[in-house]
Amino acid sequence: MSERRTELAERAAEVRETLAEAARRAGRAPGDITLVAVSKFHAASDVRALAGAGQADFGENYVQEALAKREALADLGLNWHFIGGLQSNKARFVVGNFCLVHSVDSHKLAQALHKKASELGVVQDILIQVNGAGEAQKSGITEENLIPLAEAVLGMGGVRLVGLMTLPPFFDDPARARPVFARLRELRDALEARLGHRLPHLSMGMTGDFVPAVEEGATLVRIGTRIFGARPRRT
Ligand SMILES: *Cc1c(COP(=O)(O)O)cnc(C)c1O
Repeated sequence: MSERRTELAERAAEVRETLAEAARRAGRAPGDITLVAVSKFHAASDVRALAGAGQADFGENYVQEALAKREALADLGLNWHFIGGLQSNKARFVVGNFCLVHSVDSHKLAQALHKKASELGVVQDILIQVNGAGEAQKSGITEENLIPLAEAVLGMGGVRLVGLMTLPPFFDDPARARPVFARLRELRDALEARLGHRLPHLSMGMTGDFVPAVEEGATLVRIGTRIFGARPRRT
């Protein structure tokens, strides 16, 4: 086994252990939380190495980079998650290539995904990204626009809404992200009741704040740095 593979496997195992402890503290089953290893800017060889240690879910932010890795690693049958900002004119490259798009934040984007999925005869699973911290946070839809977007999405046969995602601003103290996570869960619960549609997933928590996220109900955590180390500069 290569040194890098051992290092990645150990780091992922540590994260899994911390995740499992947080889950148990919250009275949750560790198996209900999927660790999405965020591999943006990291080499396909790192993804291959970590996959060899049993990691199946990977997250990417940039369409071209993601598709190149997906193709290079097609033999592994990995689950690719699209977690970055997505322009609606690039939606067509994403549909069918990712098990889940975490970052749907507009009607226009949802419509573009729906249209492409309908052409391909597939259904694309999506999450709506919510801006849960007001102005400090740039990406995601505002709370007041969440219900209208969710209602519109339910009318689009090419996409299936399975939950919500949030990306809090960076806080030095991860405890400050907790209310943002708790709020996302509340919004999800209210939306489920209102729409009569199950929304099982909450995508929340990154390297710095995944413990409070799991304690507040995350089902998908997106972790990059803690597993792969600092991201190389983009070239
Ligand atoms: C990069 C990124 C992550 C991973 O961040 P780390 O702090 O490296 O764990 C998670 N979610 C999104 C949306 C990202 O862009």
